[in-house]
Amino acid sequence: MNGSAPDAVAGVPLVLRSRRAVLPDGVRPASVAVAADGTIAAVLPHDAPVPPGAELADLGEDALLPGLVDTHVHVNDPGRSEWEGFWTATRAAAAGGITTLLDMPLNSLPPTTTADHLAVKRDVARGKAHIDVGFWGGAIPGNVRELRPLHEAGVFGFKCFLSPSGVEEFPELDPAGLKDAMAEIASFDGLLIVHAEDPGHLAAAPQKGGPAYADFLASRPRDAENVAVERLVTLAAEHGTRVHVLHVSSDGVLPLLAEARREGVRVTAETCPHFLTLTAEEVPDGATEFKCCPPIREKENQDALWAALADGTLDCVVSDHSPCTADLKTPDFGTAWGGISSLQLGLPAVWTEARRRGHGLADVARWMSEAPARLAGVTGKGAIAPGNDADFAVLAPEETFTVDPARLHHRNQVTAYAGKTLHGVVRSAWLRGERIADHGKPVQRSGRLIERKAD
Ligand SMILES: [Zn+2]
Repeated sequence: MNGSAPDAVAGVPLVLRSRRAVLPDGVRPASVAVAADGTIAAVLPHDAPVPPGAELADLGEDALLPGLVDTHVHVNDPGRSEWEGFWTATRAAAAGGITTLLDMPLNSLPPTTTADHLAVKRDVARGKAHIDVGFWGGAIPGNVRELRPLHEAGVFGFKCFLSPSGVEEFPELDPAGLKDAMAEIASFDGLLIVHAEDPGHLAAAPQKGGPAYADFLASRPRDAENVAVERLVTLAAEHGTRVHVLHVSSDGVLPLLAEARREGVRVTAETCPHFLTLTAEEVPDGATEFKCCPPIREKENQDALWAALADGTLDCVVSDHSPCTADLKTPDFGTAWGGISSLQLGLPAVWTEARRRGHGLADVARWMSEAPARLAGVTGKGAIAPGNDADFAVLAPEETFTVDPARLHHRNQVTAYAGKTLHGVVRSAWLRGERIADHGKPVQRSGRLIERKAD
């Protein structure tokens, strides 16, 4: 039995007890002993005696989940820190039950495209991190020689775009550049994560602009994603590169992923809370807080995404938190900044829809903690298991709340979820055994900067 030996728990300072602990082998009553070094010492029966001197946090019926691992966050710091920043992003994340985030390489200045730039980013993040923070590198035209040094400096992988990113300092790769990046990343068995929309299909689509959501949707057709992913998995097979498809929105991508996996291509994929919980049909005209790329699509498309999560075609759910200042969300879908803020709301948003569709807390923990940690190679996270960091999200699953933007800790309180009533109140978050958020408020800053562990 895991840690039932008394010496595993002798002298532990803390025990968390829950009637609904979400463990790798299911949801059951348990007590989790936390060692002085902030790791999980043992998972014990619910009624196990509390070791002498240990504090008991009895959570009653509240669910104890592994802390969420959000591998897709645009912190934008330094350079566009008026959009977000490490201080505000990690506070919002903690309040939402996220204990580890990986920062995307673009929208900050500098972008994370050289090892020197990575050092700048780390200097900015250090001292602001309320949760653990790691970094993705970027693959852009001309920086293929920077990829190995970035890998050796501890980034978790490399992001590239196949179509314009929206910021000029982070251009997309053309087909030749993509091949070069794939070959280089395969040479050290790294991971390439891809914003997959085909520029030709985007250019051929009608670009009307204006306030109508239907016109925006028509400007980012499903085929742009489908064709890009098809090309990507073909190249991944050719080069043997491990690839991850970011923010899958189109149902046409799903059979391509399933087939590629059957053929042994090393491909994983994610989707996002907004694709799973919001639909094109409900977006009011001019409501550009709903604008993101690829876009929120129709209801029937959303059902296909849920089916793909259920059968494992999609691996995980991560936020793609990509905020901006309120003035950039003009009421014109053509010109408004594309990006949805949801760091603090992802868990309740996904849980609300998951429970309605008959999924359990174990599914949510797999999609939002275990799978993202595994595919990005974030070690010691993603499961309540002895030896892992004692990172937890405590959730009252049946309780509801109405989203009030004023209660968000994001720097800009712009949200597509305003006024929604959601199930699942995050009671607290714990990082290495320390309570970092309590009833929606960050209470302690104890995040560390994390790196990919050397092979
Ligand atoms: Zn993104």
